[in-house]
Formats: sequence, structure tokens, C-alpha cells
Amino acid sequence: MHDTDLAHVGGLSYLNPSAPEPYASFIEQIERVRPYLGELERWIETLKHPKRTLIVDVPIVRDDGTIAHYEGYRVQHNLSRGPGKGGIRFHPAVTLNEVMALAGWMTVKNAAVGLPFGGAKGGIRVDPRAVTKDELHRITRRFTSEIGLIIGPDRDIPAPDVGTNAVTMAVMMDTFSMNRGGTATGVVTGKPVALGGSLGRHEATGRGVFITAREAARHQHIEVEGARVVVQGFGNVGGIAARLFHEAGARVIAAADHGATLHNEAGIDVPAALAHVAENGSLAGFPGATPIDIEDFWQLPCEFLVPAALEGQITEVRAPRVQTRIVVEGANGPTTPAADDILKDRGILVVPDVLANAGGVTVSYFEWVQDFSSFFWTEDEINDRLERIMVNAFGAIWRVSEEKQVSLRTAAFIIACHRVLEARAERGLYP
Ligand code: NAD
Repeated sequence: MHDTDLAHVGGLSYLNPSAPEPYASFIEQIERVRPYLGELERWIETLKHPKRTLIVDVPIVRDDGTIAHYEGYRVQHNLSRGPGKGGIRFHPAVTLNEVMALAGWMTVKNAAVGLPFGGAKGGIRVDPRAVTKDELHRITRRFTSEIGLIIGPDRDIPAPDVGTNAVTMAVMMDTFSMNRGGTATGVVTGKPVALGGSLGRHEATGRGVFITAREAARHQHIEVEGARVVVQGFGNVGGIAARLFHEAGARVIAAADHGATLHNEAGIDVPAALAHVAENGSLAGFPGATPIDIEDFWQLPCEFLVPAALEGQITEVRAPRVQTRIVVEGANGPTTPAADDILKDRGILVVPDVLANAGGVTVSYFEWVQDFSSFFWTEDEINDRLERIMVNAFGAIWRVSEEKQVSLRTAAFIIACHRVLEARAERGLYP
């Protein structure tokens, strides 16, 4: 071993300077908050060190009798303010580093919106489309049993993310309950309504994206009616946000998913596109728009650009070319820190993920509360409470951003890191 190889011995082994990964972006975002922490700065390292990281082997017998192994993770980034909360991602390219970053963003998101949760995230390296329904069922059950060591209604509560849905949550809830010997509805959120799920949960993230976009537009004197919207990702988040924009009279002029990148300057018929995706699994073949090159997609003039697919989409190469007034981050981590700076310099407002997509975890919080009390609310009550929490969180973050002359992302991180580190300081270090 050369001396230079020892450069980060004693530091964080999961940061590789020669190949920056998502957790490095998260740490960079935390560092930006350092000057605003006052006396709490002494605790800042807490936010860089995930509290608990579990890697599990998920072996199953495939339908053809062979045995397959999948790598799974559950990361509890911080539990200072309450039990862990964050989704489970099924994607063939998911990595531990990515899950760590996503868990860190959950810590910030939950605190930024004021929910009494810590941050966590999980995932399995599997393409849910490349295995059968029965195989996926076995993968989900085995994974849940393996992470059952650290999850639970008062410890850590998973939810859906990319590649998982209400059916996944039903299987996870059942598996955890079987292992425990009693039904524990509160162990996951995003469940079907018949199993203790909440009305409005399915739509909550997209609804939150729309509410924060509308609030940002109000401050920027932009009318939502007639505005042009470009959406990447046409799944739960992107699809519902697109529908709400469409219903509010905006024009969704372009939409992209894993199957197609489509453009129609007159406005895509969003309900028809959603019906096409429901029937065919992707936007590919949708007749109401024209396929365009992905790089052209990112340069379309619009009022709202909504990345709602995967992270790392708005890069320093794309950021100088985007032609939008507001970026609303439906996805987690879609803008790299370097791109974020470019957008700020260009006067493009970014509504950060930790605020824009917090609607999902907010209604997950409502679901968890309803499960504990076994008393269920109406959809109007849920949407009203969601609206109030999102509008208040937006207002508080906007005020800090004005006061300190920082981006909305840094403002959200300032509020969140204060809350987390205050809890940390007041609890004190064990032992
Ligand atoms: P989803 O699986 O329902 O949809 C994902 C969408 O992204 C699909 O339309 C898919 O085709 C598209 N996509 C995948 N790869 C792509 C690619 N390479 N190029 C273009 N499009 C691609 O997932 P979702 O729940 O809508 O999650 C989307 C994002 O929102 C993720 O970053 C997720 O972490 C985040 N998020 C989701 C929730 C939630 O409640 N579902 C909450 C907060 C944040």
C-alpha cells in the first residue's frame, strides 16, 4: 500500500474522491450549512455518519428451480428526532452509497417539514420487471424478514419508493406481522387502504410537488394557468404532479419515462397519457406527442421543470442549457451540487427535493398516526392537513432563504439541521 492510499484511513471509507457518489453530494450539502449552525456546529459530524447500516443477502428459489441472490440494504441515517422513516427502492443499479444518501435526505426532509421522524431508506438490487410476480413476492418476504431486526412501528417505518408500491407494502406488513405473531399495521406506510393505508397517500407526493410549485410561482409572480411544464418520470410522483398541473390549466408540453421522451407544445393530454402508461407500462407508443432527443428535452423553454425519476439528472452539463423559471424536484437528488450553483447563478429557482417531495412522507406520517389510534380520517381532512403543512414549511423555508440570502435548499437544510442537532444536543451522547 502506498502512503497516498492511506489518505482516508480513519476518515469515511465510503467516500471515494476519485468517483464521487450520492453520499458525497449529501455531505457537501451538509457542509454548506456549517456557517449557519452557531453552537450546534460541534455536532455536525453526526449528520455525516449514518447511525446504522445493514446489508442483507436475499436468496430465493426462482420459478425454474435455480437459486438467485440479491443484495439488500436498510440504512438508518439518524434517529435523534424519532423512529426512522423512508422508502424501499427496488432497482437493479441501487447501491449502498445511494441508499445512504437517500436516508440522509430523509433525515433532512422529515425535520424540514417538522415530522417527528428520523431518516432511513432501504433497497434491493433487483429489476422488479425482470422477475416473476411470485419471485418478487419471495424477494420481498425474505428481505423484510432480514431487515426485521431493525424495523418496527416504533423503530423504523419503511414506505414505497422507485419500483415498489402498495402491494409491496402489504407483503412487508404481512411478513413482519407473521414473524411477530400479531398484526402490526404501523410497520410500513403506503399500504392499501383496506390494510390500514391512508386515503390520499397514493397521490400525496405528486400533490406536494404541485403545492410547492404553486407557492414558488406565487412568489415569482408566475401564473400556473397557461404555464408550460416539463416532467421527467411519469410514475407515482411525476404522473400525479402532471395531472394536477393539467387540472390547474397548465400545459404539460413534455414528459419522459424509461420508455420514451415525448413533446407536444400544445400540451399533452395527461389523463390519456396516464391511461396509456397504466395499460402499457410506459409512455412508449403514446400517440398524442412526438418523440424527441433526451438532451433536447432538458432544453425546452418552460415555466416549470419537474425532474421526478432518478437522481443526478440535472448535471453541470445540462444546467447551463435548461430554459425554465422554476425547477421543482419531485425526485430525490435530481440536481448535482455543481448544477445547483449554476442554476442559482442563472436566477433559476430550485424547489429542493427535501421540500418539494415531502408530501408523501407527510401523509405517511398521517397513516402511521391513524394506524396507532385505529381511527381513520376523510380524504378532505388529509388533503387539508397536507396543504397546511406544505404551505407552512414552504413559507418558513422561503423566509430563511430571504433572510440569509441562500438557496431554498440551503434554507431547508439550515432549518432541518438545527432541529436534528438540537435534538441530538439535548439528548446528549450515550453512554
Ligand atoms: P415510480 O417507480 O412510480 O416512477 C418512476 C418513473 O421514473 C417512471 O415513470 C419511470 O419510467 C421513470 N424512469 C425510470 N428510469 C428513467 C430514466 N432513466 N429516464 C427517464 N425516466 C425514468 O417512482 P416514484 O415513486 O414516482 O418515484 C420517483 C422519484 O420520486 C424517486 O426519486 C423517488 O425517490 C422520489 N420520491 C417518491 C416518493 C413517493 O411517495 N413515491 C416520495 C418522495 C420521493
